[in-house]
Amino acid sequence: MTTQYQNLINGKMVSTAGTLDVVNPANEQVIGQVPACGEAELNKAVSAARAAFPAWSKKPIDERRAVTQKISAIIKENADELMRLLTSEQGKPHAQAQGEVYGASGMAAGQSTLSLEDEINEDSAERLSRTRRVPVGVVGGIVPWNFPIMMAVQKIVPALLSGCTIVLKPSPFTPLATLRLAELLADHVPAGVLNVITGTDDLGPMITNHPDIDKITFTGSTATGKRVMEGASKDLKRITLELGGNDASIVLPDANVAQVAEQLFWSSFTNAGQICVAAKRIYIHEDIYDEMSAALAEYAKGVKVGDGAEQGTAVGPIQNKKQYERVIELVQDAKDNGYKFLVGGDHDPDVPGYYMPVTILDNPPENARIVAEEQFGPVMPLMKFSTTEEVIQRANDSEYGLAGAVWTSDADKGVELAEQLETGTVWVNEYLHLSPFAPFGGHKQSGFGVEYGKEGLQEFTYAQVITVKKDAVAA
Ligand code: NAD
Repeated sequence: MTTQYQNLINGKMVSTAGTLDVVNPANEQVIGQVPACGEAELNKAVSAARAAFPAWSKKPIDERRAVTQKISAIIKENADELMRLLTSEQGKPHAQAQGEVYGASGMAAGQSTLSLEDEINEDSAERLSRTRRVPVGVVGGIVPWNFPIMMAVQKIVPALLSGCTIVLKPSPFTPLATLRLAELLADHVPAGVLNVITGTDDLGPMITNHPDIDKITFTGSTATGKRVMEGASKDLKRITLELGGNDASIVLPDANVAQVAEQLFWSSFTNAGQICVAAKRIYIHEDIYDEMSAALAEYAKGVKVGDGAEQGTAVGPIQNKKQYERVIELVQDAKDNGYKFLVGGDHDPDVPGYYMPVTILDNPPENARIVAEEQFGPVMPLMKFSTTEEVIQRANDSEYGLAGAVWTSDADKGVELAEQLETGTVWVNEYLHLSPFAPFGGHKQSGFGVEYGKEGLQEFTYAQVITVKKDAVAA
């Protein structure tokens, strides 16, 4: 018997006649069924969000803040249950699932402290001009399968805080923890303000094309992001797109190999490499290339790949079959081209579950598919470089521009290089750190707009400028 999950529409948990199966990627067993929504259910959710909008948007921001703070608290109170569900549907090991759940709670708490203050443009003898922020209306939120809870929360919280209402669609691969969270929130958020509906990928375009949705906040692949932009263009919906990346990490010759190797490893292999900002191309200076690649290979040998629910697992399965097959294809392409593997490369097709061993490639060429494309799997290509000019040029030679990193014992030098990278985020001597107070977004084809921070919150609003002529008032 698998569990039947329900959607949240207009404050009530509801089912549909048709359902979708959700599979545990660790063993390919069906672990739950979720509603298969179409136009009819979407229309109900959008109508509920529209009806709830006037009252919600008029509430003082502190009342809305109390609700988003409650969301943070409820996630924390139910962290254990959500963590287990997340591992079973997404595959990530318990410790990483726990990190995501607590991280989502922390992000919600942090974002809840943000405000939308008026700004004075002019306060002169003649006039007072002020910009205020007004919520755009009904938001459609669409999220992927790699960080389902974190992504859902980073859309729900700023939407609600800004005064918008939302219809959120989780990925059909990972809807369970999000639906359980919706159930836990149902009594704490006014009816219609938050709606969570599930369906196949076909539900996505229905959301982007819906005439009564005012803004889309989307996280997913660049290919889908372009379709979202196209759909949203029909009625000029506001959009925020967080898309793919092929992030470069640059390891300078003065980096301390012993200190950096482990962090470098996890910058690629956390969540089995399925992170938009994972290090997907590692450039190591030729002076330390042999030492660093040997240290990475040695570390990799001690890392257990397996079911995320099992003790000791550090790298779980790839989340779904399609992505698993894509990673296998990229690894096969590397084999066909005779590229050298330091570790891994051979998966066992007879074992149930979408397991790929930790795989590290030794200096494949820049035009190898495994280097030029976003792998989104537990595969790390290491490349040698000689000069900083050369490595900056290679790192920037990408249609993507999401994030990157520089590893060095000279922080000033690190910043000098960071400023030359064409990406929205650059870390110097750390990785994967995101803050609720710092804008996060991609340059080039990695995104459009930002999430997080004041700028991220403002994307759920329109600017309205009110200008008052003072002498006219006086007369
Ligand atoms: P995806 O684009 O296939 O799907 C994302 C979501 O869009 C899912 O909910 C899906 O059902 C929905 N969808 C599918 N087709 C749609 C359409 N035509 N219109 C509207 N919605 C549609 O992405 P994915 O495979 O779930 O996620 C992996 C990708 O997401 C990677 O490229 C990764 O880099 C990217 N990602 C980016 C970030 C970021 O913040 N920049 C974060 C996580 C993942």
